[in-house]
Amino acid sequence: MSPAPVAMSGSRKRLSPSVEDYLKAVFALTRRHETASTSALAESLGVQPSSVTGMVKRLAGEKLLEHVPYRGVQLTERGRREALRILRRHRVLETYLTDRLGFAWDDVHDEAERLEHAASDRLIEAMAASLGDPRHDPHGAPIPTAAGEIEAMDFPTLAQCTPGDRVTLRAVPDEDGDELRSLEADGLRPGVSLTVEARAEADGPVTVRVGTGSATSTTVGGELARRILVVQSEPR
Ligand SMILES: [Zn+2]
Repeated sequence: MSPAPVAMSGSRKRLSPSVEDYLKAVFALTRRHETASTSALAESLGVQPSSVTGMVKRLAGEKLLEHVPYRGVQLTERGRREALRILRRHRVLETYLTDRLGFAWDDVHDEAERLEHAASDRLIEAMAASLGDPRHDPHGAPIPTAAGEIEAMDFPTLAQCTPGDRVTLRAVPDEDGDELRSLEADGLRPGVSLTVEARAEADGPVTVRVGTGSATSTTVGGELARRILVVQSEPR
């Protein structure tokens, strides 16, 4: 971990990789809850709660985070802006690696985790332009704009669907390569139509028919179904 939270890179002050990872983690955790607790941050970053406490203090000093008494932390306006810049780099890189360099979608997250800290904004913008300024990454996650706007992702999850629902798969989690390979094998990619056939119990596995006019069915575990976002198809 670098001792200084900011390092000079060219003429622009650039945050250190560990700071960028903290901001990204707080952004992800505070999309569903208002604040991120020390323990949730420690778990998501794979570090000890004691080291989170020290880093959070530094980031609050840098005006990137602010404490909410008894609740945890949230990003300041500046912290949010920085988190969105990192997320844009990550998602443009994943899209470029799959669309232009032929990487498999289960093979780009770790590359992007490394490159997002090194790539310049100029390189990222050139990649985005050559891709026609994509709005979503290969896993269906929205790519923040260069101006720092991001599409809201308040879609229902597959776990919230009931038998008979016809939906379009919107986004899948991107971090676990094995999970992505098994989704791929089942044809579960963003944009595919699904018909919910059965659900064992609330939060249980969900059985879906994949595609239109196909007889292929597959069953998605309850835990994974809670992390798959879908859009209800227009009623016919
Ligand atoms: Zn990723």
